[in-house]
Parts: sequence; C-alpha cells; structure tokens
Amino acid sequence: MRTGLDCIVRLCDLRIEDRNYLEGVSMNFSGVRHPSIDVHPDLSAFHCLSMRDISVPDVTVFPNQDTVMWHFAERVRSIRKANVSTDCLTCRGFMRRCQGGCMALRRAAGPACHEPDSGDGAKEA
Ligand code: SF4
Repeated sequence: MRTGLDCIVRLCDLRIEDRNYLEGVSMNFSGVRHPSIDVHPDLSAFHCLSMRDISVPDVTVFPNQDTVMWHFAERVRSIRKANVSTDCLTCRGFMRRCQGGCMALRRAAGPACHEPDSGDGAKEA
C-alpha cells in the first residue's frame, strides 16, 4: 500500500532522508502540484480545498478529465509564480522539481496573487 499526498511541501524544508522516505511510500509525492480537484455531488468542483474559490459550477460541460485538469491549471497559472521567494527564483529546481510551496499559502501572503478574471464564465465561490 502507498499513501497519497494532495498538498505539496517545499523540498528544501525536508531533510534528504525524509524526502527519500516520502518519495518511497507515496504514489504522488512531489514539490510541484497539479490540480487536486474535488468534485461534489452537485457536480461542481474546485481546484483543491485550500483554493476552493477557484471553482466551476458543472464539470460535465468539459469533454473529459484532461480538459478539466487543463482548465484548473490554466486558472492558477498567474498564481503559480506569485510571491515566490528570491531563494526559489534562483533555485535550480524551481518549477522543475519544486514550486516553492503551497500556492494557497503564497497567495494569502500578498496582494499580487489574486486570480485574474478567467473570462470563461466559470463561477467564483
Ligand atoms: S524552489 Fe524554493 S522551496 Fe523548492 S527547493 Fe528550491 S529554494 Fe527550496
């Protein structure tokens, strides 16, 4: 049995032996997160629990799972690199192995991280 991990961590916050352990026991341990979409009984969905304001009213308007994933990934594109520390911006692993931590935490840290109007009629919660 392997664990799942919806949220990400900053890779340099972990000792190398702890990172190796988590990579070994988790099926999706990563420093870069793809949308961890929650779909609800009414078929609405949000990007992840911490960014539930980034939502769609009905996932069935999308032709398949991949297009839902792409939709949410596109909606957070501007947030993904906002409020990143200067250490991260100069890190060799930035956006390859690690995105510098949770986007929701970084978004809460400063005014530059608000999602722009997507213009696609997607509902804001
Ligand atoms: S991107 Fe930032 S948090 Fe991630 S390993 Fe590099 S310096 Fe650490």
